[in-house]
Amino acid sequence: MTKPAILIDGATGEGGGQILRSSLALSMATGQPFRMIHIRANRPKPGLMRQHLTCVQAAAMICGARVTGDAVGSKEITFVPGPVRAGEYHFAVGSAGGTSLVLQAVMPVLLRAQTRSSVTVTGGTHNTHAPPFDFVKNTLLPVLEKTGVSLSARLDRHGFYPAGGGCVVVDVSPTPRPEPLKLLSRGERVGTRASALVARLARSIAMRELGVIRDRLGLTPDQLQVVEVTQSHSPGNAVLIELQFEALTETISSIGEHGKSAERVAEVAAKEALEYIESNEPVGPHLADQLMVPLAILAGGKFRTGPLTQHSRTNIATIQAFGGLVSELEGLVSVRPLLTDTLSA
Ligand code: ATP
Repeated sequence: MTKPAILIDGATGEGGGQILRSSLALSMATGQPFRMIHIRANRPKPGLMRQHLTCVQAAAMICGARVTGDAVGSKEITFVPGPVRAGEYHFAVGSAGGTSLVLQAVMPVLLRAQTRSSVTVTGGTHNTHAPPFDFVKNTLLPVLEKTGVSLSARLDRHGFYPAGGGCVVVDVSPTPRPEPLKLLSRGERVGTRASALVARLARSIAMRELGVIRDRLGLTPDQLQVVEVTQSHSPGNAVLIELQFEALTETISSIGEHGKSAERVAEVAAKEALEYIESNEPVGPHLADQLMVPLAILAGGKFRTGPLTQHSRTNIATIQAFGGLVSELEGLVSVRPLLTDTLSA
């Protein structure tokens, strides 16, 4: 018999797309149906946008869910999940909406399936307000692999605002007995690399950006790289800084936008990189909110981070609404596992 749906108010906390993505992941993992009202109430254009609708449709496909309200602009949905099925999936955002955000909704539950999956997503790969592909590949996935799962990510094409059209492929191999994550210190810094990516834009933009990064972080020419992309559907620019520590790599990014100088784009990334270096905590603010849901679905764990962001606080509340528990004391975050059994095939 289907359990009654729990009510989630999408206006809670951060009030954006993240409550929806986390609820989809947690609903699939627990079998708990939900009804969400006031979707993205704190955004200038509330309701489901294309990328959020893709998350709902992708989740529904993975578990054969019964869904109502799944339309662009909808401010309310109900989602009744079925059994999760591992497999080969292709999802298209249909705009420049973040491919990594679709992964946020569907990947956690595939980490607990009985067999491996491959997920291909087309859309944006380097967007503002979303994890760039490089963050997913070099920061998020290697940390999740510490629990015993195997993950790999491939970028087949870059996608930028407004055309999108990027393509990423993530392979997910679960483990029957995931380990709790323990990430309490980051160890010594073992390397730093910065790249400036220009797609169908002048190389000089990337050179100016790398000049700022070099000066602010004290890097040498062998640590700097210009990446020229020719295949993307629209022009684009991103600065990516990889801070490699013994325990993890943090990826700092800044995305070029119309009307923002190359120097400003680089300055934003340099400032964030210096903050991370000075903080001494292994888990940066973005990784913190992105680890909570997968850890709750895997075997839980503990990590150290700085002051919690609104995204993290909102995820804690959402996990609690689905019967989980995340606590935080002076930067030590403890996530209790939601499930002990592997989900259905
Ligand atoms: P909206 O908020 O408009 O509904 P949304 O669904 O795109 O939009 P948010 O709810 O703001 O997004 O969630 C954004 C997610 O992207 C969060 O998990 C956040 O940690 C992550 N993120 C944002 N910027 C970065 C970045 N520079 N590096 C890594 N992750 C990022």
